[in-house]
Amino acid sequence: MLEIDILTLFPEIFESFRSTAFVGQSREKGLTRVDVHDLREWTEDQHRTVDDSPYGGGPGMVMMAEPLVPAIEALAGEKGAGRRTRVLALSPQGSRLDQAALERLAGEESLLLVCGRYEGFDQRVLDLAVDEEVSLGDFVLSGGEIPAMALIEGVVRLVPGVLGNPDSVKMESFREDLLEGPQYTRPPTYRGLDVPSVLRSGDHAAIKRWRHEQAVAWTRNRRPDLLAGRDD
Ligand code: SAM
Repeated sequence: MLEIDILTLFPEIFESFRSTAFVGQSREKGLTRVDVHDLREWTEDQHRTVDDSPYGGGPGMVMMAEPLVPAIEALAGEKGAGRRTRVLALSPQGSRLDQAALERLAGEESLLLVCGRYEGFDQRVLDLAVDEEVSLGDFVLSGGEIPAMALIEGVVRLVPGVLGNPDSVKMESFREDLLEGPQYTRPPTYRGLDVPSVLRSGDHAAIKRWRHEQAVAWTRNRRPDLLAGRDD
């Protein structure tokens, strides 16, 4: 089972997400556990404060080490060799999430996703309690909740047993550094555009060959960077 905990100031964002589609099904099948925790539960003052103005001045507010560090330690344990939970902070400054990272994370026992807000985290949160920072891409969102959902969707579908057909993940884009080529379903002709005849031929070897050729051509056209180093 893959255990996933989420630490956020907006737990309600995850309500339907947790019970919908593959995330919901994986929980029902006992293949994952996905729990959401409200960071304000770890505050101790009357106003349930989680942020303060930045040292040195500047706009916005910074998420404070208290209550974040105690919250992370309560959910995941102290940072160090013995910790079984991998703690990820969502941050535009982190390593960009890709399929290889998702495959690595799907092999973990337990993940804690820490969602930022405001101007982000006091650096000591990252230094003391976080294992890695993960970015969804080179753009800035207002919070880590949507990046956390993207990461969870990507990871959960890689957990064995979650997808009905395990071959689905074997044939997808970014496997072997290729994009998946074009796909078709019924009808055979739509507004004058025909499904390529090979796909209706029943010749499985020819279909496999065609799909590979299409994947290479498709990738060369759309994402030539993925093909660097390949010789087909
Ligand atoms: N001041 C920060 C900076 O310039 O790097 C940006 C903070 S952003 C407004 C607030 C929070 O949104 C971040 O702490 C992070 O959790 C989340 N976030 C924003 N963009 C993200 C991205 N591309 N990937 C992952 N998390 C992101």
